[in-house]
Amino acid sequence: MMRLKTLGARLVIATIVPLLLVTAMLYPIFRTHLEARLDSSRHGATTLLNAEYDALLHDMNESFNQVLAVAELPILRRHLRNVREDVALKDREDTLEQLAAMLETLATHFGRYTRLVLLDTSGEELLAAGSRLLPYPTGTRYARSGFFQGTDRLSSRGLYVSAPRLGESRRGGKTVTTAVIDIATPVFDHQGQRLGMLLFTLDWHYLTASLPHAIDSGEGVRAVMTDNQGKWLLPDTDEGMRFGDSLALRYPQVWQDLSTRPRGEILLDEDLLRFRTQDIRAIAQGHKVGMIVTPPASQPWRLGIVVPRPGFTGLLAENPWQIAVLGLIYLLAVAVGVLWVLSLHRQRYLRRQAMEYSREAQRLARESQQYAGEVQDLYENAPCGYHSLDRDGRIVKINRTELEWLGYRADEVIDTRHYRDFVTPDTRAAFDTAFRDVLSAGQEGAAECVLMCRDGTRLPVIIQASAHVTEGRFQYSRATVFDLSERKQLEARLAEQAMADPLTGLWNRRYLKGQAAKEMARARRGGAPLSLIVVDLDHFKHINDTHGHDVGDQVLQSFADTARAQLREGDILCRMGGEEFVILLPDTAPEQAMQVAERLRLAVSTTPVEVETEAVATSRLTYTASLGVARVDPEEASLEPAIKRADEGLYAAKNAGRNRVHWYAD
Ligand code: GH3
Ligand code: MG
Ligand code: MG
Repeated sequence: MMRLKTLGARLVIATIVPLLLVTAMLYPIFRTHLEARLDSSRHGATTLLNAEYDALLHDMNESFNQVLAVAELPILRRHLRNVREDVALKDREDTLEQLAAMLETLATHFGRYTRLVLLDTSGEELLAAGSRLLPYPTGTRYARSGFFQGTDRLSSRGLYVSAPRLGESRRGGKTVTTAVIDIATPVFDHQGQRLGMLLFTLDWHYLTASLPHAIDSGEGVRAVMTDNQGKWLLPDTDEGMRFGDSLALRYPQVWQDLSTRPRGEILLDEDLLRFRTQDIRAIAQGHKVGMIVTPPASQPWRLGIVVPRPGFTGLLAENPWQIAVLGLIYLLAVAVGVLWVLSLHRQRYLRRQAMEYSREAQRLARESQQYAGEVQDLYENAPCGYHSLDRDGRIVKINRTELEWLGYRADEVIDTRHYRDFVTPDTRAAFDTAFRDVLSAGQEGAAECVLMCRDGTRLPVIIQASAHVTEGRFQYSRATVFDLSERKQLEARLAEQAMADPLTGLWNRRYLKGQAAKEMARARRGGAPLSLIVVDLDHFKHINDTHGHDVGDQVLQSFADTARAQLREGDILCRMGGEEFVILLPDTAPEQAMQVAERLRLAVSTTPVEVETEAVATSRLTYTASLGVARVDPEEASLEPAIKRADEGLYAAKNAGRNRVHWYAD
């Protein structure tokens, strides 16, 4: 989950970073391109602005010239003189008609004029052409109007140019309200006598609308024109500017820029405005116009050209294939980024996987090492011996336990000693047989042997071996060796127990039988004398009856101790049952046996038994025994005849009064 989250974040970065990089790379190119386009637009706008200005100036100058030219016509002067001198109408009708026709022609020919008016010095309209044809004189007086007062002060060739104002114009037979501008000049005669005044009213919109490029030069190209106060001087616009509206109020920021500089550029949101401050009344070179006056508030005018401002979107929109190429570049960049991240992610994943595998492998290696160590430890320190022998019986491997048993170091035996060398000669045959069995087809063998240890001790063992065979070939034998010494000891102890009397620890009748056979055989071989003593305690029944059976047992044990003390190492002392004992004396002649018996009798009679009973804590009990002695004839089949003979002696001793030794004379 976490991994997916980081992958998601990386993918987002892989998308954003290429986009940013490509943008950073392309931006300067586009920027330069844009700057060039902006310069070109600027240049175009400036060119257009100058052309417009020139056209306007040209039109204005043409009007100026026409006004001045008309003002100097002799027929006009003549008419004015006629009027001043009150020449009868019929005498000056020709002049009037000629003049009227001429002015009419002028008005019709030049569509820009809405009215052409001739005034006398008092401001009375003498003749008017253009908007309507009226009887002459019309009776209209202009003495109070601004243009009359402005023009009246001018000398010859002076011009009064009014600010554009709303007036009437005839278009297509209809009278419409439109912006007009008055151009007036005084009329003088040759003597410099002021005769009257000529007023040409220009359709201002006709003039500005004829600005050649303002509308036709391309989409979004517009003209801007205001007077000194920011009053809109052009026809109504799509943006809602109407003639006479205040640009200063509608676009204060633009006006601020426009009014404070003589010329320059204003960057609008989507447009570029190039402007210049210009007096439209400027006179073209070569004209002989005198003073030009105008209402001060309207001059100078601001003329501007608005062209669309080149932008990135505009640039792109111009060439649709550009968008396709750009899209492709972005797509490629993002694809590279995403692929890079994905491959990185995959690599990281694989690396992590590899690390996990290697960790797992290390863990397994550690475990198997540990396991091998444990197996090795088990092999070396097992409670049994392990060894391996080659085909010749040479030791190739042996564990620590067995080495310790034998008392050797590994390097002293491995590859140098044959295992059979450690087997005692008496058990070597068994070992050899077992080893042959291992080498044979059965591949298994076992033997009980005794090992000879370095310190001379003998170790009874059982060896169980099997062959290690690969591809049908014997490689080595593998043997397990168990220490039998404890078992042997146990067996010996059990055997001993079977031969011993549990109460006194003396040998029993069965043991005597076996020993007697051995001793008689030895006596037969060596000719050494062999004697026998039988012992029966006196009045034992009485002891039992008087003191209890436990005390009787204690007396029996005491006798055993006393008898053992009186006998030699090789003498065999046995309890035959009850309170009857037999002593076999090897290498003992009858006389010596008699002495032993007498010594024993005396020891018994003088060694009281320290008895412990429930009634009395400790008390001394004296007892006696009667003994019969006889010679053992080694040629006899068993000891029985000798025992019988000794019993005869015993019987005699009892009869003689007990506590005595009797020889059975054969
Ligand atoms: P005598 O002097 O003639 O030998 O007299 P006696 O009482 O010893 O006679 P006898 O030999 O016939 O008696 C043997 C008695 O010994 C019989 C039995 O009660 C007792 N006896 C036998 N075996 C044991 C034993 O293991 N422990 C004890 N306490 N008494 C035993
Ligand atoms: Mg008895
Ligand atoms: Mg007895």
